[in-house]
Amino acid sequence: MTSVQLYDTTLRDGAQREGISFSVVDKLHIAQKLDEMGIRFIEGGWPGSNPKDIEFFEKAKSLALSNSMLVAFGSTRRAKAKAETDANLSALANAGVKAVTIVGKSSELQVTQVLETTLEENLSMIADSIRYLKAKGLTVFFDAEHFFDGFKANRDYSLRCLTTATEAGADCLVLCDTNGGSLPNEVTTAVEAAKGVTAIPLGIHAHNDSELGVANTLAAVNAGVSQVQGTINGYGERCGNANLCSIIPALKLKMNIDCITDEQLAKLTEVSRYVSEVANLTSDAHLPYVGSSAFSHKAGLHVSGLVKWAQSYQHLDPSQVGNTQRVLVSELSGKRNIIYKAKELGLNLPPQGKEAQKLLEQVKLLESHGFQYDNAEASFELLVHRAKPDYQPLFELVDFMVVVEKRRRQPTRESLEEMLSEAMVKVRVGIEVMHTAAEGNGPVNALDQALRKALLQLYPSLAIVKLVDYKVRILEESIGTESQVRVVIESSDGVEQWRTVGSSTNIIEASWLALADSLEYWLLKHKERLPGKV
Ligand SMILES: [Zn+2]
Repeated sequence: MTSVQLYDTTLRDGAQREGISFSVVDKLHIAQKLDEMGIRFIEGGWPGSNPKDIEFFEKAKSLALSNSMLVAFGSTRRAKAKAETDANLSALANAGVKAVTIVGKSSELQVTQVLETTLEENLSMIADSIRYLKAKGLTVFFDAEHFFDGFKANRDYSLRCLTTATEAGADCLVLCDTNGGSLPNEVTTAVEAAKGVTAIPLGIHAHNDSELGVANTLAAVNAGVSQVQGTINGYGERCGNANLCSIIPALKLKMNIDCITDEQLAKLTEVSRYVSEVANLTSDAHLPYVGSSAFSHKAGLHVSGLVKWAQSYQHLDPSQVGNTQRVLVSELSGKRNIIYKAKELGLNLPPQGKEAQKLLEQVKLLESHGFQYDNAEASFELLVHRAKPDYQPLFELVDFMVVVEKRRRQPTRESLEEMLSEAMVKVRVGIEVMHTAAEGNGPVNALDQALRKALLQLYPSLAIVKLVDYKVRILEESIGTESQVRVVIESSDGVEQWRTVGSSTNIIEASWLALADSLEYWLLKHKERLPGKV
């Protein structure tokens, strides 16, 4: 079995997608997930280009990565300048990582038209920059930008860029299809030519503008590259980058190329959905391998085939990539999923018992109302508990009222207008009913404050629970402000983090449900430590 090193650039190139804006915390979370899945290299960002990325590399030092190595990204030195005094290169050298990637032009036209310098100066920029970083003891990957387009126009010059980088001591030359316009056969030809001029490992970095990002990557691997760059879910500028969620299973399951373990591959679907959630993008149901519809079967003929032979209408066993088959007419598979999920949470449901059936019906009903539990396991766990006949809720929401008001502090001065939110809640704990009111900087914040005010009287330890993230997703985009919305809240007590979900056509109600679940979940988990006032 040959092997390939996986290189993820979701945090740098992936973040270029319109609509994505990862916070430093988001990036740290994603890096952790990629590490769990065994990605060899994680490109964390461009420390020379923005302070957020410098902060990421600073904070990333405390990440305990067991499989991955963080890589900082930058570019070759400026034209007619010195590598030693280049701010971007020194940011790379000071990022606190052991490996860096620098991008440099490898196309004649890009050098003359865009960089506006001479072909010789570009070669010096490549050589000087690599030598500088090698002298700092770093592993250096060279991204040969526009390599394939350059190769088509002036083959000799593009190959000279590679030999220059080789002589300067680069550890891997990554051939980039920057504009994403190449075809697989062109990639094969160019990779073979590159192999003819250098003995050091080659890599591939493909974009998806011709919907060939994955195909071009696999063609390059077949032609002999050993580093594969891409992003989770194919996120990236324009039409995206080569999608690692499709590349990884193709390499491992179809080409028999080692890149991650079987157990790590089984996390692929989870990682895909996790990253889409953090990116606050709806996870695409129809993504190959990892989409929720990738193995769903509706046609009667297919279903009857599947009953006889599981793989009759599937190209692989979905569990290999952590996905599940969905037979839309079968209740049985749903019940098994529920039992399986409950078991993962350490809750045993007897397969023949009423609880599993009740829970299944509940989940189906709630999912049809917009709830989704893939990314809100705390809410799912609560559902499992609530399905038990002897479950005693730690509190019950009786009702609430929220007032949002726009006021002027002084009638003559418009600049002093302010928005005021106030919430009143009624909560029952045991036989006691409590009324509280609180103000907040918005309706959800006011509700949160009022609910806490009530519960803190009985459960003071709840004070450590903080809301760390709040995301709202519109579920039916065409209906505008009348749409069903899903709210996912992430909470933390400083040790553990958990996510809860609420859904409604009313954003306040959706938020309220997610908030209440968040607090009930924590109370349930720490029941033993609470005063016996339940
Ligand atoms: Zn790129």
